[in-house]
Amino acid sequence: MAKKCLDVTARLRPALRAFEPYDPRFSPVRVNLSANENTHPLPAGLAEAVLDAVRATSLNRYPDPMANALRDALAERHGTDRAHVIVGNGGDELLFNLLFAFGGPGRTVVTCPPDFAEYANFAAMCETPVVAVPRDAEDFSVDAEALLAAAADAALVILTSPNNPTGGLVDRALVGRLLAETEALVLVDEAYVEFAGEDESLAPLVPGNPRLIVLRTLSKAFALAGLRVGYLIADPQVVDALGAVRQIYSVDVLAQAVALTFVERRALLAPVVADIVAERERLAAGLSALPGVRTWPSAANFVLARVPNAHRTWERLRDEHSILVRDFSSTPGLDDCLRLTVGTREENDALLDALSVLTREES
Ligand code: PMP
Repeated sequence: MAKKCLDVTARLRPALRAFEPYDPRFSPVRVNLSANENTHPLPAGLAEAVLDAVRATSLNRYPDPMANALRDALAERHGTDRAHVIVGNGGDELLFNLLFAFGGPGRTVVTCPPDFAEYANFAAMCETPVVAVPRDAEDFSVDAEALLAAAADAALVILTSPNNPTGGLVDRALVGRLLAETEALVLVDEAYVEFAGEDESLAPLVPGNPRLIVLRTLSKAFALAGLRVGYLIADPQVVDALGAVRQIYSVDVLAQAVALTFVERRALLAPVVADIVAERERLAAGLSALPGVRTWPSAANFVLARVPNAHRTWERLRDEHSILVRDFSSTPGLDDCLRLTVGTREENDALLDALSVLTREES
């Protein structure tokens, strides 16, 4: 009889062997500012509207695969039509599908690290070589000439605006040059752009630029990280190509109903976003006043800070103050850096109070 052992690693596709399940194993903390979520309370009226929308759903029926009612509402938000919009199970699914559809062996994707780690992960899963154009070590700007050179024969260039975890916006002129001087698809990931101001979005440029793709999500400003809805604004041919390869029911009935409710009532969320922006500036000023702390200007709902002995400080924030932030100190280019999500006034005060003790002790 054959031995009953299973060597899964040998059976896995070689490109997938290095990956492990993503399980951050968060233990409950008093203040969680680790994942760039929106921690503010929901505006009055929104929860009731969600319950009404959920009651009107039929869970025995499959969802509308393309989520057309939601697409229409999103298209209206951006002054375009549904042909230019595709929704996904969070921005993550759309990023994966972009690599799946337009990457593959022999095609390169260009990234500008430090940036969102999933770009490189999804590229590796889709066997797409990554050409990294590292950001400036001091101010995290992108070297335009180096990027244009790398993009010359790339399938896809990914820029993040504002960038996670460094917080800065993309240079519009650079995006213009990429579109004019290369043949690459250019993805601008705008997961956090609401915190920079809608004027900073490149979405209005999509209709005149068929190779420009803009990623948005409802996980951040819309406070719906748990719902899993993101979308792309892109040329209808790109939308169709991605529509052809997606998991057909990846955005479920409840997600479509709740997302539509939020998008239709988005004006209610504007004061929340304004408060997060004001708190970001207050948090950044408070951090800069602490000994040995350096911050970078952020247009997002987080602040990157270099602190004394960052890994130890991160542990002590968690263990002694029950505050969780994100430790980037082992990421190349981000020595001693922590990424601090902007929370409510009370949460930010708790973080500043704890850091004022820890930075003194760790200096
Ligand atoms: N892009 C960036 C830059 C992000 O930081 C994130 C989430 N942290 C995403 C995309 C994906 O977000 P989601 O899947 O929740 O839409």
